Amino acid sequence: MARIKKDGLIIVGGGLAGSLAALAMAKLRPEVPLLLIEEKDSFGGDHIWSFIDCALEKNERWLIDPLIAHRWPGYYVSFPGHNRKLKLDYSSISGQRLDGAVREALRPDQYRLGTRAAAVRENEVVLPGGEVIRADGAIDARGASALSLLTLGWHKFLGHEYEFARPHRVDQPVLIDATIEQVDGLHFAHILPLSDTRLLIADSYISDKPDLDTAALEQRIEAYVKLRGWKGGNLARRESGILPLARSDDVHAFWRGAAARVAKLGLRGGYFHPSTGHTLADAVRTAILLAQRPDFSGAALHDFFEADVAQLWKKREFYRSFNAMLFDAPNGERRNILERLYRLDAEVIARFHATRLTMVDRMRLSGVKAAKTER
Ligand SMILES: Cc1cc2nc3c(=O)[nH]c(=O)nc-3n(C[C@H](O)[C@H](O)[C@H](O)COP(=O)(O)OP(=O)(O)OC[C@H]3O[C@@H](n4cnc5c(N)ncnc54)[C@H](O)[C@@H]3O)c2cc1C
Repeated sequence: MARIKKDGLIIVGGGLAGSLAALAMAKLRPEVPLLLIEEKDSFGGDHIWSFIDCALEKNERWLIDPLIAHRWPGYYVSFPGHNRKLKLDYSSISGQRLDGAVREALRPDQYRLGTRAAAVRENEVVLPGGEVIRADGAIDARGASALSLLTLGWHKFLGHEYEFARPHRVDQPVLIDATIEQVDGLHFAHILPLSDTRLLIADSYISDKPDLDTAALEQRIEAYVKLRGWKGGNLARRESGILPLARSDDVHAFWRGAAARVAKLGLRGGYFHPSTGHTLADAVRTAILLAQRPDFSGAALHDFFEADVAQLWKKREFYRSFNAMLFDAPNGERRNILERLYRLDAEVIARFHATRLTMVDRMRLSGVKAAKTER
């Protein structure tokens, strides 16, 4: 069995979290030997990741700003009894830009594309042919795993990106259009205007079940396009996701269950917004944290990120009780709860998405919960 010894760090998984971690290492710690391993032929994949700008700290912007493909000064939400335009900056990065940035920042000897890791251990990676690459430490960023160890709800969607012959006249993203028929939990459309003629339309659900009936969702997207009067759209791209929403507490069991003693980032490490399943803000933060570590041994990285994610989950306990309330509500009521959330001050909504709720915000959100029982 061939063994290659490298000092420094191996990151396995060149998706969102692994690529951002590699970019932060290249910028802040160029002296540390680095290897990024990705099984596909490009980094990031064919993805668009959106985020509310205030979810990032000012001193984190340098990592994400070069990757931004779209930026809007606000977005809409729409419920049966309440339409609103929120003036909260909203941006998207693309897999294409992430791929370009990683190839530019890393030397060719610092990454391997089209390479599948068979096993990731504390300080080594095993490739299918038996080759073992050793380093001071390895990080597993291969996406979701061991989610069955958590009690979860799901944010699931099918997205179609259409190129229309004529302008669609959507000037800003529609984060939630929940005016449509309610099926499978909370049902809403999510729309991103990518150009005057291009829209990403996602048929989305906050659901108890992690399954996607693709044929049914396709039909609902087509019905929505018709309802909105958009004609002659050519399907340019499709995407789908089934993202976890946290309801239980035991992140330690999850962390250990996903592979003992190996440091993990991204979904693999439990880094996701408990109520949206989004990971971008956490991925930026952990990438920079990684690059600031004094010790890249596998054991030190494992202990550091295990403690970090445990602290994060403790801080975000409120979201899990909010989710529990949402999931315990009967199907139709879920939309009413979210509608009440989106009637609050824009600053509270921003802090909800940025996981920076204050004590007063929590009290106001508890009011959103209490209103449920008054109805
Ligand atoms: C369609 C979609 C849209 C989303 N939109 C948003 C959004 O707008 N905003 C947001 O914040 N979040 C969004 N998410 C949620 C979340 O941010 C993404 O799932 C994100 O990609 C998770 O990052 P990650 O690095 O943990 O995993 P991934 O990005 O999935 O990266 C894992 C990488 O590991 C590679 N890999 C897997 N196994 C191996 C192996 N054995 N060897 C080598 N490489 C391997 C994979 O090919 C992949 O590139 C979206 C998710 C999906 C699916």
